[in-house]
Amino acid sequence: MRHHPSPPHGPQEPLFGLDALPAPPAAEPAPSAPAFRDSAQARRLLAIREIHAEPAAAASPRGRQVLARFPGARLIETDSHWRVPELHGNEGSADRWMRIKRETLVLGVKKTLTTRPNGRSADWIAPGPSNGCALSCVYCYVPRRKGFANPITLFTNIDRIIAHLGRHVAAQGPKTEPNQCDPGAWVYDIGENGDCSVDALVCDNTADLVRAFRDWPTAKASFATKFVNPDLLELDPRGRTRIRFSVMPADDSRLLDLRTSPVDRRIAAAADFLDAGYEVHFNLSPVVVRPGWQDAWAELLRHMDDVLPPRVKRQARAEVIMLTHNADLHEVNLRWHPRGEDVLWQPAAQETKRSQNGALNLRYRADIKRRALADLRELVARCAPWLDIRYAF
Ligand code: SF4
Repeated sequence: MRHHPSPPHGPQEPLFGLDALPAPPAAEPAPSAPAFRDSAQARRLLAIREIHAEPAAAASPRGRQVLARFPGARLIETDSHWRVPELHGNEGSADRWMRIKRETLVLGVKKTLTTRPNGRSADWIAPGPSNGCALSCVYCYVPRRKGFANPITLFTNIDRIIAHLGRHVAAQGPKTEPNQCDPGAWVYDIGENGDCSVDALVCDNTADLVRAFRDWPTAKASFATKFVNPDLLELDPRGRTRIRFSVMPADDSRLLDLRTSPVDRRIAAAADFLDAGYEVHFNLSPVVVRPGWQDAWAELLRHMDDVLPPRVKRQARAEVIMLTHNADLHEVNLRWHPRGEDVLWQPAAQETKRSQNGALNLRYRADIKRRALADLRELVARCAPWLDIRYAF
């Protein structure tokens, strides 16, 4: 049996209670139907029992809203959302991976607000409203950032994030040269380090961003998701938010995309999101090369062709992203989900590469990747010819 060391200063107790904080601000206007995030299904995915919070984050209006949503949760003060000893860099947390993701939240204040150029998925990477995730995709790079199980950290200074973005959008002016990101709008990825659909189960950060972008006619928000959150249908994005449903063959997804919405549900939701005012794209990602992968992708693409209505197909575009893996993540995964590593860890087919963010990662060898991308393009052309591939990486 593995030993779970106590935190360095003994078992942590709440350092301040909900009663000590001012009342939360008035809630958003009530939606017409009960919110999905209050449903039993949502509460099964996120049953928050412990909230680690920087004091300034807990005292902020957004922080107070989050704390009021989970009145039974134990509140624990932390100096920095980057350093929560029992969550981050703690080998013991590999054993409690799923529980930590389901039961723990972190609240922090995002100190450095930077918008970075990208040019692949989006023109710009916005300072995200969160990092970490309650879902458990085995290949996800997000846990690598903080080490081991990395539950959602919500940034409570969303007003500052939006003000920063407003200034950035204004400074760009109109987009005069179409590119593969978008023909007419500057595209900002708002979900680089998490899943905005899941964040929306906890607070209104995603809603605030969607509402902000609908007032910026030269810009568009974009985020990838593996979770269908019907509450997002109420946000009236007026075409200024692109939601990118990530898809992969069902067998791969069952093995690798733990705690996510099933792939066929993501595909089935596309028309609802389009009708609600989103632009709906697809991420074909990650593509995992394994015996029989081409047949599995052909089946998925044929399914999309069968069930997606013409109005979704007319505007849909796709990104293709081959698997990126990482030696440290491999070691961690072996401790909580070794079966996933049977397909992800293929050292004979992978080589070390320095990624755009500076990390040393494993990607498929250039010859394997080239052949796989050609195969996938051919499959898309044959099975889903309406799906234009924006870029493949
Ligand atoms: S949904 Fe995205 S951020 Fe969340 S675990 Fe999966 S890959 Fe990571």
